[in-house]
Amino acid sequence: MKDLKDHITAGADSPGGLSHLYLKGEDPSESAFDRSVTLEEIRGALGDCQRCSLHQTRNNLVFGEGNPNAKLVFVGEAPGADEDRQGRPFVGRAGQLLTKIINAMGLTREEVYICNILKCRPPKNRNPRPEEIQACESFLIEQIRAIDPEVICALGAFAVRTLLNTDAPISSLRGKFHSYRGINFMPTYHPAYLLRNPRAKKQVWEDVQMIMKVLKKSD
Ligand code: URA
Repeated sequence: MKDLKDHITAGADSPGGLSHLYLKGEDPSESAFDRSVTLEEIRGALGDCQRCSLHQTRNNLVFGEGNPNAKLVFVGEAPGADEDRQGRPFVGRAGQLLTKIINAMGLTREEVYICNILKCRPPKNRNPRPEEIQACESFLIEQIRAIDPEVICALGAFAVRTLLNTDAPISSLRGKFHSYRGINFMPTYHPAYLLRNPRAKKQVWEDVQMIMKVLKKSD
């Protein structure tokens, strides 16, 4: 198999799809790399990404941040205006609420890892498009593979439905663990939804308590 450098080069002239990481005949459920890669290398492979049209309107690519050995990874939808400005995930109002949730779990942002389905902001925060998800998804898969967490917490209907590949309503998916590539996967409401519907905080608290139990067991 080719090495990382070839995969990076392969991405440079490929506008979309998984082809920027996966070689012809390769199974995308397997790693695109023939050895374990670090988050820095995955960030390097993204480079000045132009694999979808969102690069034309972004200010900063938002790769993700936190502990490279995190037991818990949060996956949101896509950067908003604040995140696009700062190049960091979940730093706006919804992000401040996420930070509070993390702290209420007895954790800090530095102990977990936070990222999104898309690494660039869709204009006016519109929903991500299928071709944008397709262009970005393999990098998220590699990030999760590099971190190898105990639990993934997906924030909001968009992240949940994309990762579980379902149209089911989030209300029927949250509150129980699913499996994402063999990893415990908990869907819950997006912090931005909680800002509009504070009563749903109770359910999110139930969901994160289930996560805390799994994390305690693995200690
Ligand atoms: N909403 C998201 O889904 N992700 C962010 O990073 C910020 C807001």
